Amino acid sequence: MWLVYNIYFPLVLFTGKILRLAPDETELHLVKLNNHLRGQGKGKAEKILILTPSCLQNKDCKNNIVEDAKNCLKCGKCKVKDLLALSEKYKIKLVVATGGRLARQVLSETKADTVIAVACEKELASGIIDTYPVVVHAVVNQRPFGPCVNTDVNIQEVENIIQRILK
Ligand code: SF4
Repeated sequence: MWLVYNIYFPLVLFTGKILRLAPDETELHLVKLNNHLRGQGKGKAEKILILTPSCLQNKDCKNNIVEDAKNCLKCGKCKVKDLLALSEKYKIKLVVATGGRLARQVLSETKADTVIAVACEKELASGIIDTYPVVVHAVVNQRPFGPCVNTDVNIQEVENIIQRILK
């Protein structure tokens, strides 16, 4: 496993850049491979973290959910409400981060050993490599308004992953 994450993954990213392959496709390949390798991993709720980028929040919402996801008032204008509901239902910590670096910092502070990470292909691929050996279950976000604004996520996909890990 170490070789896969420390040699194969960076090599594929590097080769993709050299050959000028479409970045999303190269990164999506790594995300899918990671999810295949990690798919059977089990964990305890208190060691799991749901990590999502702040672009999931409706851009007009002023509530500081980066400071604390519980500051979401659950108005339903974005999927933060639904992730918070999952977090409460399964007693799993939810963190909203403004960037990859903050996400990694949060991860080291919380000492979670399993992360359900929502992000774009690029952030997921680099996060998976940087945080190894933490088990990452990667969920590619949806970007109906382009990158980094009012993004979306398939909540059922996230819940399916939680149930699989806790089974
Ligand atoms: S669901 Fe929460 S984060 Fe999203 S817009 Fe409403 S209050 Fe803001």
